[in-house]
Formats: sequence, C-alpha cells, structure tokens
Amino acid sequence: MPTFTDAAQTLKEHIDSIALTDHHVHGVIRENPTPESFAHMITESDRTPRSISEAFDTQVGFAVRRWCAPQLGMDAHVSADEYFTRRLELGSDTVNRTLLKAAGIGRYLLETGLAGEEIHGLTGMAGLTGAHIDEVIRLETLAQSHAETSGASASDFIESSREILRARTIGAVGLKSIAAYRIGLDFDPTRPSKQEVVQALGPWFKEIEQNQIARLMDPVLIRHVIWEGIDLGLPIQFHIGYGDPDLNLHKCDPLLMTELIRMTEKLNVPIMLLHNYPYQRNAGYLAQMFRNVFLDVGLAINYTGARAPAIIAESLELAPFHKILFSSDAWGLPELTYLGTKLFRNGLREVLGVWVDKGEWSLNDALRVSTMIGSENALTAYSLNK
Ligand SMILES: [Zn+2]
Repeated sequence: MPTFTDAAQTLKEHIDSIALTDHHVHGVIRENPTPESFAHMITESDRTPRSISEAFDTQVGFAVRRWCAPQLGMDAHVSADEYFTRRLELGSDTVNRTLLKAAGIGRYLLETGLAGEEIHGLTGMAGLTGAHIDEVIRLETLAQSHAETSGASASDFIESSREILRARTIGAVGLKSIAAYRIGLDFDPTRPSKQEVVQALGPWFKEIEQNQIARLMDPVLIRHVIWEGIDLGLPIQFHIGYGDPDLNLHKCDPLLMTELIRMTEKLNVPIMLLHNYPYQRNAGYLAQMFRNVFLDVGLAINYTGARAPAIIAESLELAPFHKILFSSDAWGLPELTYLGTKLFRNGLREVLGVWVDKGEWSLNDALRVSTMIGSENALTAYSLNK
C-alpha cells in the first residue's frame, strides 16, 4: 500500500508523462506578435487593452508569467513587459519550438477553419512539433469559401458543395460547426427541405455577387451544412459556451441542442461539445444521458488559470470518464498550447490527488482515468488507429 506521498508522486509522474491527444487546437503564429496582436490573443475579447501589462492582469496572463516564463529562461512571475520583450528577442521560431515541445502533445487534431497566412497550417505544425497532425474541417468556412471562390452558383451549390465536402474530408478526422456564433444553439434541429435551402441560397448568392464575400449567417443554410456533415458520420465538434464577443452566451448552452443530440444519437454520429464554460455541468449531464456526446473544458482551463482545477473537477461530476477529452483550443500563441497542457496536467493531478488521498478513488483508477482523458478517449471517439 503506497503512502500518500508516494501516490501523489506516482500520479504526478504519470500525468506529466502522458503524450496528450489534443482533440481541438489550432496553429501557432509564424512571426513575432505586435503588442496589440499578443494582447488580443491572450483574451477572447477583441477590445484592445491599453497596455501589455493590462492585458496580462488576468488569470491567463498570470499563468503565462508563472509557467511559460521559466520555459523561456526567465524567472517565474517575471513582469509582463519583461516577458514580452524577451519573447521578441528570442524570436517566434524559438518560442514556438520551445513551448510546443514542452507541451508534450503526441497528436494534434488541428482545426483549420480559422486559418490565415499568419498561422502555421498542417505542414508547418508537423514540422514544428514532430507530432502526428490530423485535420478537422470547419463546415461553415468550407461552404462559404466554396460559394465565394469556386464559381458555384445558387442552382448547383447543393450538389457541388456536397462534392467538395466529401473531397475535403478524405483523410480528415472530424468536422466542426460554429453555429453557436452565427445563429445560437436554439436553432431548429430538423433538416431543412431542399426547397427551403434553394430559397435561402438566392439572397446569399446575390450578396456574394455584389460584394464578392458574404458571411454564412442564414439559419436554414447553417442547418443545411450541419446536416450535410451529419451524413458523413464523422464526429462533429460544436463550439459551446464562452467565446469572443460575436456570440450571445445565453444561446450557447449545450442543453439547447438536446433535440439535435437525440437525432444524431440514432444515427451514431459523435457530438463533441467544445469548451462549454460556464456550462460544463450541463455538458456533463448530456454526456451521461446520450451515447454520442463527448466534452472537453479546453479554453476554459487556460482562461481560468489558477481556478482551472475547479472547472476540471466539475467536468468530472456527471460525465462518464470515457466521454471526457483533453483539448487546449490554443490559437496563435504557443503559450496557449503549452498552458493548455500544463494547467490540465496540474489541475487533473490536484483534483484526482485529493480523491485518492481521501480514499474515494484508488490510485490505479486515477492513473487509468488520466490516460483515458489525456489521450485514449479521443483516439477511440475519433476512431484513430493507435
Ligand atoms: Zn477552437
């Protein structure tokens, strides 16, 4: 029978050594950030803080100074200005490589819908990390870029976009929808009729004709692309909860999707509820009720910093342990990738350590569940060969 100290040490070593599978993550920036772009990337808000120091006066900012600074050769808790200055001196390639290596992610499920020239894509991330990189395709982005740039017309969009989706998903491991951002999650869960889709395509293509671009915002068309995705049977990630100021948070509660979850459960399509904060308990409920629901608390872990263990503990209340996945949801800054893993490892150790200490959980169960959440659950849920 190990003593508590031995158990805590064993748990720490085990959790720190897991090669994580990050089931929802994005690329990192290629070049050094400006103070403004850095400040924007360490908050979900697009309202510019007055200074780098102000941008760092948050849980995530404190966590960067605490955990990322030592990885880059600085003292823990170095000032925000010193951190930023030193980071620029080191240069983005060194910072990227150092922090991504320290993250210890063995497999990235990279969502490429929020790409852009400034962000490393699949090949760039593979080169930087040496890890296995899989792609997750964002449904709304693919449909919109097809409508805007392929020369498709309203009359051939249904067929041509279906072909494009099928072609693009060869080799992809999952799909993603940002319906929460565009229309809220209280949308009609049923599949729109062909006639409804054709009617909605007219005004959208007219807008594209006039402006070359037109955001996919029509609820009928968003439901259409989601159902086209469901047809493929791949896991579909949904943005849930906390995000940038584009969304109305009260419409991002996963309970609003209950009927769509019922429908997709019958079709055996996995629904991956991303982030979930502050609705992680609701997501846990859905994961317990429905066979096809999985969840993570990525993003929330980074932005709640020292409070992340509380969020991790809540994610472990109702959700069956094989339904909980690890994600960093990092975008742009490698600090966010590293922190996503560091705060996850620390938080999981803290939460499970207390349960083992109290005799509620055995050490072996804590070790087993850590591996499941850190990697195995994602490999199973996305049917990835191990
Ligand atoms: Zn994301």
